[in-house]
Amino acid sequence: MDVIDLIVDIFDRRGAESYLGESVTMSQHMLQAATLAEADGADDELVVGALLHDVGHYADEFSAYSPTDTHDKRHDVVGARLLDGHFTPRVVNGVRLHVAAKRYLCAVEADYFAKLSPASVHTLELQGGPMSPAEVATFEAQLGSMDAVRIRRWDEAAKEVGVVTPDLAHFLPAIRRVRA
Ligand code: FE
Repeated sequence: MDVIDLIVDIFDRRGAESYLGESVTMSQHMLQAATLAEADGADDELVVGALLHDVGHYADEFSAYSPTDTHDKRHDVVGARLLDGHFTPRVVNGVRLHVAAKRYLCAVEADYFAKLSPASVHTLELQGGPMSPAEVATFEAQLGSMDAVRIRRWDEAAKEVGVVTPDLAHFLPAIRRVRA
């Protein structure tokens, strides 16, 4: 199956699922993130990175997040692997680093932790907590890390109940423009 058909199929079949214990569905969350990126004037690669940042939650249909999880399922790495080769490296890196970006922001911004939802606080612990100073330096040196930080801020803000967004079809032209 073509990767874009697969993405459309996943949105159709599984978009209505709840997003990690948040009050919005998965598709609402992903569409809100992409809409916020677009409103910020982000380019196509970042808009698509925001749209697809959580696609790794679907890659393994048997490993959905549960609040009782005691280990992290690495949806960032899984998602990047799913997209690798199909989209530009900048899209893939944004997805790959969006969890690291949360750990980074919690380390470098004093008030960032307070912006996290309860579910995101829970996963932060599983993901290793805020970065150490050495991890911060390593992260900042990585290609695409500041893109991931932007995606992360849209991710955090994309959990609002009742926000109306364009549907997936609106973003398909951008998705096609950033294919590898
Ligand atoms: Fe997310």
